[in-house]
Amino acid sequence: MSNVSKTRDRLRIAVQKSGRLAEVSQDLLARCGLKFRQSRDKLFCFGESMPIDLLLVRDDDIPGLIAQGVCDLGIVGRNVLAEQVLAARANNEPVPARELRPLNTSRCRLSIALPQDMEYQAPQQLQGLRIATSYPALLGAWLAEHEVEAKIVVLSGSVEIAPRLGTADAICDLVSSGATLIANQLREAVVILESEAVVVGAQDLPLDERGDLCELLLRRIDGVIRVRESKLIMLHAPRSAVAIIQQMLPNGQIPTLLPIEGSVDQVALHALCFGAITWQHLEDMKRAGASQLLVLPVEKMLA
Ligand code: ATP
Ligand code: ZN
Repeated sequence: MSNVSKTRDRLRIAVQKSGRLAEVSQDLLARCGLKFRQSRDKLFCFGESMPIDLLLVRDDDIPGLIAQGVCDLGIVGRNVLAEQVLAARANNEPVPARELRPLNTSRCRLSIALPQDMEYQAPQQLQGLRIATSYPALLGAWLAEHEVEAKIVVLSGSVEIAPRLGTADAICDLVSSGATLIANQLREAVVILESEAVVVGAQDLPLDERGDLCELLLRRIDGVIRVRESKLIMLHAPRSAVAIIQQMLPNGQIPTLLPIEGSVDQVALHALCFGAITWQHLEDMKRAGASQLLVLPVEKMLA
């Protein structure tokens, strides 16, 4: 680890300044109990609740800042990390950062897309084409793996218009809903990387107090992610139906059963579920005898 890192006693996290991950990142850290005071230049935020500060930067700079020891943790799309890791390997440089936690948010995929009138059947079809992308390392690795020789046209933005401009025959770009592709008369052909927002850090966590802070923060992040996907379900049911209802709980923990005052056979059931509870689940439970069904979001959890 570099000297930059050793001379710091506060933890530093790099997040995207503006863009798709900006709000997601700040929201996650706020849920972890971090509060920041923003500086006038809006690049550095001082942590008021813990010795953890924030650096607001372009997402592409985050792995490099970690490699240099300027920051300890960061939040980026897996697509950015994977591209930079591959590029570093190709140049015989050390890998800048590694993925510490998937965040199950900002999901998207890096896909090759073809003009709408070209039906995709197999990788070999891409032989000899010009493919525009901002992800040359990932695309290059995929092409090599499939033994396809194509020309990679590196563009830093507006990749999707390249086929219309005639500067490429196909593209390899991030897709979420697919609306941008349709608007540009393109069709998603093949996914080369599934991406989501991830927490990244150095190969080794700092050995001093900052290492402990990193671990504490990662534990809180785990809690926040679990909470985000959990729901508390409450219902009334005949004792005889509890076993079957319990099996219907999506990824549910063992429920707590409580007697209901004045009722002999009915009990109240509370259970934490880690999967989505749909209307279908509720209707099935009702058919099995449940009533008074209530689904509540969970705000905090500490097991
Ligand atoms: P910066 O100015 O920080 O370099 P950017 O233009 O590179 O920003 P954004 O468009 O804000 O980046 O996207 C940030 C990340 O959001 C992407 O790297 C990707 O992981 C994720 N993402 C999710 N859905 C999409 C999508 N449909 N298109 C692009 N990125 C997406
Ligand atoms: Zn970027």
